[in-house]
Amino acid sequence: MTFKEEIKRRRTFGIISHPDAGKTTLTEKLLLFGGAIHVAGAVKSNKIKKTATSDFMEIEKQRGISVATSVMGFDYKGYKVNILDTPGHQDFAEDTYRTLTAVDSVIIVIDAAKGVESQTRKLMEVCRMRNTPVMVFVNKLDRPGRDAFEILDEIEEELKIGVRPLAWPIGNGTEFRGVYNIFEENLYLFTPNKQTLEQGIEFKDIQDSKLDDYVSPRAAATLREDIELVQGVYPAFDHEEYLKGKLAPVFFGSALNNFGVQELLHAFLQIAPSPLPSKTETREVEPDENKFSGFVFKIHANMDPNHRNRLAFVKICSGHFQRNTNYLHVRLGKQMKFSSPTAFMAEKKSIIDEAFPGDIVGIPDSGNFKIGDSISEGEVLNFKGLPSFSPELFQYIENADPMKSKQLAKGIDQLMDEGVAQLFTNQFNGRKIIGTVGALQFEVIQYRLLHEYGASCRYEPIHLYKACWIQSDDPKQLDDFKKRKTQFMAKDKHGRDVFLADSSYMLQMAQESFKNIKFHFTSEF
Ligand code: GDP
Repeated sequence: MTFKEEIKRRRTFGIISHPDAGKTTLTEKLLLFGGAIHVAGAVKSNKIKKTATSDFMEIEKQRGISVATSVMGFDYKGYKVNILDTPGHQDFAEDTYRTLTAVDSVIIVIDAAKGVESQTRKLMEVCRMRNTPVMVFVNKLDRPGRDAFEILDEIEEELKIGVRPLAWPIGNGTEFRGVYNIFEENLYLFTPNKQTLEQGIEFKDIQDSKLDDYVSPRAAATLREDIELVQGVYPAFDHEEYLKGKLAPVFFGSALNNFGVQELLHAFLQIAPSPLPSKTETREVEPDENKFSGFVFKIHANMDPNHRNRLAFVKICSGHFQRNTNYLHVRLGKQMKFSSPTAFMAEKKSIIDEAFPGDIVGIPDSGNFKIGDSISEGEVLNFKGLPSFSPELFQYIENADPMKSKQLAKGIDQLMDEGVAQLFTNQFNGRKIIGTVGALQFEVIQYRLLHEYGASCRYEPIHLYKACWIQSDDPKQLDDFKKRKTQFMAKDKHGRDVFLADSSYMLQMAQESFKNIKFHFTSEF
């Protein structure tokens, strides 16, 4: 296969949903179709189920599971499919945002009865920022749910994206019999089976009267009417609009019963983009460039506290990645060779000799990598699109064991490199502030500092509303602002200026009085 063909056959995507909509179940069914697993139950949910903070081993175990299912690759009908898993728990939303920078498209799972939920809305905003092509799978049609047309309207309104159904449910609730494939204009009826894939019955034409016997005459009649209505109401599917992230093809089904999953997968393979160009600070990198480049979007700590090895997840953006070859670690300006790069095939991990754009490679790392680091064949490239988001929760972090201050500093440093939370240093009193998206992270940090670095920390409350990155073309006003707000000025990990607003009112006042200063809620602008 040529290099270009390798790129063209790759589909790298993420599945996102509000917790419980059916992401894990759908992932598993896709793996079953792909032949990557043979019975259901092989994929463990990486859900962090406890919000209580008592059972740390549980969190650790679950972190272990999430590394196993971080990337799931498989070959199917000539395509190489890479599914990137994202944590559903909202406390880990930032992890999900970062994973979304490594995908070329997204499938959103929605519960038919619950419709669009809060986490779905937030994740869609991230997709919109990057114009990521989005497909929607409306799940759990086997349960009494809402009318399909109503769900389509809700998706359009709530997710602010055009919709075009490419599959349609036959019956619903207990009468649900499968889905008609609008995209391929055929019907394939499965027998519901939760565990494996059963042989289905195929209909080329829904006007076929035999259909009445398989579903029911009433369901068949409703299907025929619905399809006529769909084709009348919605314009033909516009592939270009989908690729621009403006139009979401919508599929219906029941992941648990294997209804609608194959329809989704087949359409996905045909219309979802192969690896797209990646933006850097200097230029756009095309996947089919000869020279290798990639960036780190996720770092996973080793489960074994005796080995501080980590796994850096690298998304390959261009070129042909090869084992034991000298590459440039751009930030460190250092040549490095990777002797055991790992690829992920379903639940197996194995050392690989090569990888192509769109692939994710795991690189064992003893502390050289940070999230956002770029690797290349020599060119100084800095990939964009991995911003930090303004945290929601803040606490002062203090050393609780004066004998271990070095360990604490090192531990904090490494955990921040992994992107567990963000660290701000108050410029007025020098105190360190940890900012997170969820409360769970504070506990995870404290636990990991102790178990992996032998350091203890203690938190002290600080009341903050937001941390914003500030920037201005007016150095005088910027200077004036910093002087006036000394108590509220901090530096982030990279030495950038951050304003710590203690209330929305304070932020609003600052924005009104300092018109030449821009207040950003993400670190990349
Ligand atoms: P996730 O949190 O989005 O990963 O959701 P899961 O895949 O873990 O599913 C949440 C629950 O919904 C589980 O109990 C599943 O068995 C159930 N579920 C998933 N898909 C379906 C479906 O199509 N129909 C029904 N009735 N239940 C489903």
